Amino acid sequence: MKIKIVLVSLCFSIYLNAQENKEIVNQIEILYKESLTNGKSYNWLDRLSNQIGGRLSGSLNAERAIQWAEEELNSLSLDSVWLQAVMVPKWVRGTFEYANIESSPGNTINVNICALGGSIATPSIGLRANVVEVKGIDNLAQLGEEKIKGKIVFFNGTMQSNQVDGFDAYAAAVNQRYSGAAEAAKYGAVAVIVRSLNFRLDNYPHTGVMSYGDLPLNKRIPAAAISTNHAELLSSMLTLNPKLRFFIKQSCKNYPDVKSYNVIAQIKGSESPENIILVGAHLDSWDLGDGAHDDGAGVVQSMEVLRLLRFKNFRPKNTIRLVLFANEENGLMGAKAYAESVKKKKETHLLALESDTGGFTPRGFSFDTRDKYFNKILSWKPYFKPYFIHLFEQKGSGADVNLLKGNAMVLAGLRTDSQRYFTHHHSEMDTFDQINKRELELGAATMAALVYLSDQLGLE
Ligand SMILES: [Zn+2]
Repeated sequence: MKIKIVLVSLCFSIYLNAQENKEIVNQIEILYKESLTNGKSYNWLDRLSNQIGGRLSGSLNAERAIQWAEEELNSLSLDSVWLQAVMVPKWVRGTFEYANIESSPGNTINVNICALGGSIATPSIGLRANVVEVKGIDNLAQLGEEKIKGKIVFFNGTMQSNQVDGFDAYAAAVNQRYSGAAEAAKYGAVAVIVRSLNFRLDNYPHTGVMSYGDLPLNKRIPAAAISTNHAELLSSMLTLNPKLRFFIKQSCKNYPDVKSYNVIAQIKGSESPENIILVGAHLDSWDLGDGAHDDGAGVVQSMEVLRLLRFKNFRPKNTIRLVLFANEENGLMGAKAYAESVKKKKETHLLALESDTGGFTPRGFSFDTRDKYFNKILSWKPYFKPYFIHLFEQKGSGADVNLLKGNAMVLAGLRTDSQRYFTHHHSEMDTFDQINKRELELGAATMAALVYLSDQLGLE
């Protein structure tokens, strides 16, 4: 027994020496402890979610959020805080949408829908038509104009529950929401209803961006999401009565682009200030909830990374820069403007790390980088072990930092437990009360640890 203990501890210390640097182990522990005991992320998110709320691009709330973030960052004694101007789309939902299923004249059941972002309105008196159900865009060609013209196309593709990674299921199903209207319009559909991208059966419709592609203005048709419960109801009623009619009324509108801003702040590097390590998230959100998970959590975690690294007057070797991107949800205009400025100034980014998978328990990171940098990062896994951070995969980064491809050595995204994310995503269910304080704080510390390691140990 004794021999065994000695052997184990000997092996452990050899392992520790080979893999870890004690000073770094201690510093990472300080980052986690500070985030969990004196963290600011949760209070910041409370204010962003509850005092400002949903902050769709081009809205007054989006401008208030920018002002709030700038003020908070100015209070952190960073080296610089500034705004980068960017033009963003302005789409307004208008009065709340209304829909019903009419099984026979005058016999209706109300159902919950919401307009998809970018959609046009229905006529002001609404629109009533027969419905044709499809599982996805691929089904449209089989039905053809004969069976689609004059009808509402109901896209009832589900998020595949056999996918363990919720984001894989989302990626496989999102096309019907994004391109469904443009494709159905080509066959003469008068509107589209899209099943909400949500694993769960509930009554909340989930919005999200859609696009008409190059469809001319006069060919565009209204697009709305329907809650999963009501998608099930509509589908079963259609089986019994294929002649039922659906009524939809929405008054959303696209306006000309308006001026907005990316919020940027940084701590200047002491040895190689020209090398930038970026942390970021998107400050805009959809309008239905208060955007606490998507992406308020990422915003406050990224802000907390700078505060944690400033803690105890730590001076990084490289410049640590925070970017709160405008307009991720319906245009990515903030990320485009930032990426263009990086190219123009020929700035070097060592790492660009984004948080946009909700404020859930962090599991690790997804990377988009060359094998040699990835292997270096993999050698840091022991530092994360005490915090249950184990996921290190080469599987893409995030929508905003992805545009820095070619200008950053490593692109990365914080990855959380994704099982509950799509219950909240883009719906009324995305609210501050759905945030767990410790999970949020662990995410901030996990990001700070990766930034710290990249800064201290380098990626080469
Ligand atoms: Zn997001």
